[in-house]
Amino acid sequence: MPLLGCIADDFTGATDLAAMLVQNGMTAVQVIGVPDGPLPEADAIVVALKSRTAPVGEAVAQSLAALDALLAGGATQILQKVCSTFDSTAEGNIGPVADALMKRLGASIALVCPAFPTNGRTVYQGHLFVGDHLLNESGMQNHPLTPMTDANLVRVMAAQTPHGVGLIPFATVEQGASAIRRDITALTERDRRYAIVDAVTDAHLMAMGEAAARHPLLIGGSGIAMGLPENFRGSKHLPPRRDAASLPEARGFCAVVAGSCSRATLAQIGFARDQVPTLELDALATPDAEALAQQAIAWSAGKLEQGRPIVIAASAPPEKVAALQASLGRDAAGALVEDAMARIAQALVAAGVGRLVVAGGETSGAVVQALGVRALRIGRTIDPGVPWTFAEPTGLHLALKSGNFGGRDFFLKAFA
Ligand code: ADP
Repeated sequence: MPLLGCIADDFTGATDLAAMLVQNGMTAVQVIGVPDGPLPEADAIVVALKSRTAPVGEAVAQSLAALDALLAGGATQILQKVCSTFDSTAEGNIGPVADALMKRLGASIALVCPAFPTNGRTVYQGHLFVGDHLLNESGMQNHPLTPMTDANLVRVMAAQTPHGVGLIPFATVEQGASAIRRDITALTERDRRYAIVDAVTDAHLMAMGEAAARHPLLIGGSGIAMGLPENFRGSKHLPPRRDAASLPEARGFCAVVAGSCSRATLAQIGFARDQVPTLELDALATPDAEALAQQAIAWSAGKLEQGRPIVIAASAPPEKVAALQASLGRDAAGALVEDAMARIAQALVAAGVGRLVVAGGETSGAVVQALGVRALRIGRTIDPGVPWTFAEPTGLHLALKSGNFGGRDFFLKAFA
């Protein structure tokens, strides 16, 4: 039975959280969408929803369905995973989802903290910083879907819930878990249902985790999960695990499919080009998913058997992307390439690929769907935020890389 049940509002955020738990000694499985059968076996289950920008009612309904599945499976604590930049609109969805989860869990107060100091996300006096900028000056104020125009999380959260929101400030958090617990009691007495918690270092996150050991619900980024495995070890529910990241043995050929046009991915393709067979598809010259897939399949014949990874990319620099978008429209251009990459992934797996790296968030979504993947057992991290995973029920080893993640050598490092 899982100890920790997590409800993540997007796919790559779910992976990030699951990888963090594995690094801290819990086995973790990421389930795609609300689980509809028995939960996989793991210390932590992370349900990946697409609820960050869904209509509020839909986000709440999906999150409650996920909660019910996690509770039915035996989870003893719930983590509502949100983005480390607290991505949301004035209506939600963080507040309304939290309200619904609190009610269902009968919780009196929940700690809220998106801090992730390793990635430059810190909270001080309730204000969220991205590196050395306040959230609302970090570029996030221009986000197309969830513009963040206020760095004060007490205000942001208060705008999304009818319940009282308070702050547990740096001075308290510095003193450790018992001081945090004292502030939690004081806030509860003042009828606050949410406590934004300052955190500038990992030690603060650990103290916060310890203070919330008995809380049914926590709300935050992957950072807030850092202290939780230690709680479960302390209460003897979680044995020490040196092998939390171990996956079934990898078999089969190695391949990369890339549909991300992010700068990091373009550099990774450039690096791979000199070392392993690399095909760069031209979607502008062949604006047809099936024809692109056929080109890739014909090209790959005989190459997989040579034992080196192969790379198939539709990725292109901005001017080429713009040209395809101008001719087909932005959505149709994206869908065309996603469709092609999904077909190529299917063909590669049919040809014996057992280890597949996919570059691009949306591209990963399309590939996972085409391959019928239901859950990802999380293994070792390749580069920050990108672990190897074992995809059930396919038996495939998959690494799903968000566009801008990973170093230049990522495609080769993954297989090393
Ligand atoms: P990232 O994680 O870098 O944002 P995504 O896969 O989420 O990558 O998004 C990249 C989008 O660009 C996808 O919809 C993909 O289909 C599309 N795309 C890929 N190559 C091209 C291209 N050559 N022209 C136009 N769009 C492309």
